[in-house]
Order: sequence, then C-alpha cells, then structure tokens
Amino acid sequence: MRIFVPKETTPGERRAAIVPATAKRFVELGAEVRIESGLGFFIYCSDAEYESAGAHVIVDRTAGLREADAVLRLQKPPADEIGRLRANSVHISFLDPFNERDLVERLAAAKVSAICMEMIPRSTIAQKMDALSSQSSLTGYHAVILAADELDRIFPMMMTPAGTIQPARVFVIGVGVAGLQAIATAKRLGARVDAFDTRPAVEEQVRSLGARFVKIDLGRTGETDQGYAKALTDEQLAVQREAMAKHCAMADVVITTAQLFGKKAPIIVTTEMVRHMKPGSIVIDLAAETGGNVECMEPGKVVDVNGVRVFGYANMPSRAAIPASEMYSNNIGSLVEHLWNRERNGMVIDPADELLRGCLITHGGSVVNENIKKHHNL
Ligand code: NAD
Repeated sequence: MRIFVPKETTPGERRAAIVPATAKRFVELGAEVRIESGLGFFIYCSDAEYESAGAHVIVDRTAGLREADAVLRLQKPPADEIGRLRANSVHISFLDPFNERDLVERLAAAKVSAICMEMIPRSTIAQKMDALSSQSSLTGYHAVILAADELDRIFPMMMTPAGTIQPARVFVIGVGVAGLQAIATAKRLGARVDAFDTRPAVEEQVRSLGARFVKIDLGRTGETDQGYAKALTDEQLAVQREAMAKHCAMADVVITTAQLFGKKAPIIVTTEMVRHMKPGSIVIDLAAETGGNVECMEPGKVVDVNGVRVFGYANMPSRAAIPASEMYSNNIGSLVEHLWNRERNGMVIDPADELLRGCLITHGGSVVNENIKKHHNL
C-alpha cells in the first residue's frame, strides 16, 4: 500500500501530519511511504530525516495524491483536491463533517473512504488515536501561556520586602480536555483558579487539580454517551450567565472552552459581562473556531472592550507545532496500525469495525456515517 502525506495548505498551519518516527512505523508495517517535500519545515524536520526513516520525498503533489492508496493529513482536504484522489483510496484527516456537507458529498462521489479524526470514538481502545484530546491538551496549555504573557500582572503570589503581590485569578469555563490542562497549567504558575462546567462529574477533577469548582444550580444538564455536554435550554443559559458575571468580574483571566460536539458553541460571556470586568483583564475564547463563547469575540483577532482584551485566536495547537505534530502523528500511526492487515499488506476498511462505525464518513460511493447522514438529511 502506498501512503502519501502532503504538506498542509491552511494558512498559519505549522503542524505536520506525520513525523519521521511514524514514517518509519509505516515502512516497518510494509507500506511505501511518500511525503511532499517540506512536510516538516515548521517542525524542523528536514526531508533528509524523513528519507532516513524510509520515506520517499516527492515534489509533485498532484502525482502524490493521484497515485496514493491512502492520503494522511491534518486539516480537511481542499475541495479541489478531492477529484485527484483515487477511487477506493483511504483519506484520513480532520474533516468538520457536520459543517462541511459539500466536502462530505464530494468525498462520497469520488468513492473515497474518508475517516474523520474528530469522530474517533471516545473509548478506551481508541484513546491512543484520539487526536481531539491530544490537540486540546496543547490548546489548554497554550491559552494559559498566552494569557500569562499578555497580562500586565504575574500569576504567582510574591511576598517580598517591597510588598505582597496577590496571585492572578483565573476563571476557566468548560472543563473538558483543554479546560483541565488550562487549570493544571495556571495552577503550576501559581494562579488562583476557579472553574465551571455543566457536567457535574467534572467537579471532582477540578478539585483534584487544586482549583475551586463554581456551583450553579442549572437543574438537569446531562451528557451524551460519548461524554459530551448536552446543549442547555435558553433559560438555563440565562441562569448560567448571571452566575458567571460575578466570577468574570473578579477574574484577571477568563478562559472559555465550552463546546457542544457537532454544534455551534454556546454564548456564555456576553459583551455586558466583559464590560464589567476589570480593565487590563484578559479573555481567551478557545471556542473561537466553532462560533465562540464570548459575544464580542472576533475570530483571529484581539478585541478591546474598555481595556479588557478578548482573544479569538484559532488553531492554538499550531503554536506548539512540535509536540502537536508528534502527538497527532502518534494518533494517526495507531489508527493505521489498527486498520492494517498483514496478509493484504494494507489498510482494510470494514464499515462494521466498531471503531470505524464512529469515524468512517464515506465509503464505496456513499455517506455511511449514521450521525452525519441524520445531520444532513442524507
Ligand atoms: P468539548 O471540547 O466538547 O467541550 C469542552 C467542555 O465544555 C466540556 O467539558 C463540556 O461539558 C463543556 N460545556 C459545554 N457547554 C457548557 C456550558 N454552557 N458551560 C460550561 N461548560 C460547558 O469536550 P472534550 O474536551 O472533548 O471532552 C468531553 C468529554 O469527553 C470529557 O468528559 C472528557 O473527559 C471525555 N473524554 C473521554 C475520553 C476517553 O474516554 N477516551 C477521551 C477524551 C475525552
């Protein structure tokens, strides 16, 4: 089986889908590995390092796509490249399939077996392939580093002959993978951390990191069978906002990470709440790519509201491109190994496979994923 890994084309993307160590894993499985020249440029991996791992470096991207049995990448494929993929080839990447109906239909029409990294099931067996988690941990870490750098204060308490400096107060809203890592990082830097999530199960995890869990009685909230939060009603969201306002006003840094899988993120911090925060405070909206949790957030920008700066940066993992690439590469490496069949010397796509039932989106000319079919009425 011939695997091709093209360079990422999304502006600002610094990560690479595979690092040389993973290329070596694929070669050891029996694959022929081709990478596009410059794949590892931003993570300081030269073409020669990929070559030493057994990969072939090519410059003709179109030929790479056309001749591959499997294409592995990070970001969703550009629409105009789908026509270049071989019928019955495998394509593995993030795909955003709930919002990318056209892309999904094109992949089906091209008879590509498209596997979506966001939809790898959150099960124990699939943990090492869970790219959402690996990338979210870096997002949470980097949000705190960004805030610490931008804040005109320091995070830890300092008792000096020149006076006592109080620790910064950090408020984390949404405690999934990114939120937990944000809490852990802010605590390590010495901040006083409060956190909230609609899933009550999170309280214990927050406490175990030494942070305080903010209690708000929202009535029934609940989570899906994959552990994702269910959307709140408008009334519940109103209660949440009212309770959050006080905590935001006390915080030096607010980090929001609240997401609803496959849906637009809920607006939790209104512009009015930002206006009541202390000048000099910072809000980092980590849900920027799915619509944002902060009403006045503008994607990719820093908005100033009465001296409070709201950051809406996208693709935070790309800021830590080296570990992000290593982790994504390990995730995709484990997935390829899971699908590899030694007798056939290649990946075998069995739509009945438990793992693939969750993340295989198109196969044999059709959209096969039940959730995506339902979402787009296909
Ligand atoms: P996510 O990115 O979908 O959402 C981030 C957080 O926002 C979630 O904790 C969610 O409950 C919260 N949220 C949603 N609406 C909110 C609101 N109105 N106010 C406050 N918070 C709100 O979540 P994630 O990081 O992908 O993790 C989701 C769950 O999956 C977690 O329980 C996580 O521990 C679990 N998980 C399990 C596995 C596994 O078993 N292999 C792997 C990864 C994650």
